[in-house]
Amino acid sequence: MTSSFLQNAVGYLKGVGPKRAEILKKEFNIETFGDLLTYYPFRYVDRTRFTKISEIRDDQQYVQLRGHFVNIQLIGERKGRRLSAVFADQTGTIEVIWFAGIHWVKDIIIPGAEFILFGKPNLFNGNLNFSHPEIEKVTPESSVKPLIFSPVYNTTEKSKAAGFDSRGMMKLVKTLLATAPKIPETFPDDLRESFKLVPLDTALRDIHFPNSQAALDKATFRLKFEELFFIQMDLIGAKMSRKENVRGFHFNIVGNYFNTLYKECLPFALTEAQKRVLREIRKDVGSGFQMNRLLQGDVGSGKTIVALMTMLMALDNGFQACLMAPTEILAVQHFRSLTALSGKLNIRIELLTGSTKIKKRREIFSGLQDGSVHILVGTHALMEDTVQFSNLGLVVIDEQHRFGVEQRSILWNKNSSVPHVLVMTATPIPRTLAMALYGDLDISVIDELPPGRTPASTAHRFDSDRLRLFGFMRQQIEEGRQIYIVYPLIQESEKMDYKDLMDGYESITRSFPKPQYQISIVHGKMKAEDKDFEMERFRNKQTQIMVATSVIEVGVDIPNASVMIIESAERFGLSQLHQLRGRVGRGASQSFCILMSSKKLSDEAKTRIETMVSSTDGFVIAEVDMKLRGPGDLMGTKQSGIMELKLADLTKDQAVLDLARKAATLVLNEDPHLTLQKNRCLVELMKSKKGHESKWSRIS
Ligand code: ADP
Ligand code: MG
Repeated sequence: MTSSFLQNAVGYLKGVGPKRAEILKKEFNIETFGDLLTYYPFRYVDRTRFTKISEIRDDQQYVQLRGHFVNIQLIGERKGRRLSAVFADQTGTIEVIWFAGIHWVKDIIIPGAEFILFGKPNLFNGNLNFSHPEIEKVTPESSVKPLIFSPVYNTTEKSKAAGFDSRGMMKLVKTLLATAPKIPETFPDDLRESFKLVPLDTALRDIHFPNSQAALDKATFRLKFEELFFIQMDLIGAKMSRKENVRGFHFNIVGNYFNTLYKECLPFALTEAQKRVLREIRKDVGSGFQMNRLLQGDVGSGKTIVALMTMLMALDNGFQACLMAPTEILAVQHFRSLTALSGKLNIRIELLTGSTKIKKRREIFSGLQDGSVHILVGTHALMEDTVQFSNLGLVVIDEQHRFGVEQRSILWNKNSSVPHVLVMTATPIPRTLAMALYGDLDISVIDELPPGRTPASTAHRFDSDRLRLFGFMRQQIEEGRQIYIVYPLIQESEKMDYKDLMDGYESITRSFPKPQYQISIVHGKMKAEDKDFEMERFRNKQTQIMVATSVIEVGVDIPNASVMIIESAERFGLSQLHQLRGRVGRGASQSFCILMSSKKLSDEAKTRIETMVSSTDGFVIAEVDMKLRGPGDLMGTKQSGIMELKLADLTKDQAVLDLARKAATLVLNEDPHLTLQKNRCLVELMKSKKGHESKWSRIS
């Protein structure tokens, strides 16, 4: 078959050879013909158009000039050594500089000979210049047919030194396409037609050398669709196979625990959104299938109570449940609030974290084994091998983005059968990302905050406003409110950060002296019991100010705290800022979030701060965050297929993703095991992809 053509080593391509193949592999991860064909251009330029030197501006992306070199000279010594030349046309001159590959360039740029120069103009010390532009000597052959859509490829200094500048890459792809047989189609015809996809062969040729914008658009669509389609096939395939093969525990009783809590213990009425989500969950756990549900909701939307009520469904049916949180503070807090909420129910809830003492551990372990522990709350400690349940029916994972996706499965395997799984996000994640990362889960959304909340009023202040800030804090404290002051903590500069925190703490204690003011401090270097002690003092209103690093970021719930001051706010990410702000505004009174920063801000930091000031909607903030940071970084995860995307961009391609998911659903609904003849091409492709052997091995 011709598909083996794509698997040929790139070294076999005319003009490559083993040495340069090594460079392609190292610099671009290109090993095969197929890799080369999917090394897509990142832009296209009109090579038929030339710019006059007198018309160059520094904000231009790329320009193409025609002229000749004059005044070529080597300047500087050793490391500062560079080659400088002046490029001239009828309208003016411009400096061109090379720092590397000097000898190679020097031999080529013969003074007076006509050259085409292509590159991005820079502004340096008030003058325009080019550094390391592409150059090509004009020969009768080179000017044969310049392309209107000429591809531009990413290259590196090392690749350029081996002749793989953008032009070199273009030649390589051209050579390959000239000898390539028709590239076999990966999609069945009917699917291709219903989604208006051009054939793969056309798409791969057109993405490199389009004749028109329309051809380029069609090729791009087809290739993006394909990338997203196969990720969705995996996710939906996994979901279907789980539904088929994994029997879920049947929670068919709505029993005593659930009803008593609902009727007698709830300190508030559930919101409509909470009720709807509980109905969705109940349907899952009563269906006989294993639940895998993602619960999305903004900070403070009330996910905890939903988690508790879901756990009670498990208990009512004779099962145990566990809840895993990403930090010790949060685990402790969950343990407390679950214990308080379920006070009347006579159930045993235990807490297991890294700092649980051995004796207590033993008690918990035996309680888990004999079934007397109903609910276990904890941190990563829950995943240790020694933690064994007698009858685990439900796993709740809070604030998922701190856990790797693989970690979910460790908890699943704590039982002979797979328990139901409810994953809760800390802050909303954009819909495209949810689909790309959690497409194998069902999704519930709490899109409503409990009534009576007043969104925090958010302001941005500079360090120079500090005196006024202190005045505002005193006034708030006088009104009986409590205040958080949060400092950044970033691993790389940990020492400096602690120093900042301590300096800040000292300055606060000076401005807010005892005995009138009491101040708590919490940070990661403290012992767990000391942290607890300080949190407790703050919770009991014995202290008015809590100075902390971002350890309090996730989930802490102290309704009387109404001011959140974030120091060096420019150093926090958007979702972190939103999380922190979510710590206030939990009561009915007006709350405040104050973002302190220096005056020197990057554009991105400015956007983050402006977004916080202008919106309190977590879903809006999540979208901005994804646009700023890119999807991979947002989840702090590299394991998903979204990292392999070459063309598709989750920040922009929602529409393509929707179609691709629809297509994958159609295919798998019609042919769950991909046994139909027409789908053989899909199977071929999925089998050939790395890491897919196991997942699809059951496909014959
Ligand atoms: P998150 O979704 O951020 O985890 P929590 O579950 O911590 O939010 O809930 C935030 C606060 O809102 C808690 O103090 C909780 O008791 C309260 N709460 C939850 N649901 C309701 C409701 N329906 N009405 C009023 N308050 C509620
Ligand atoms: Mg929470």
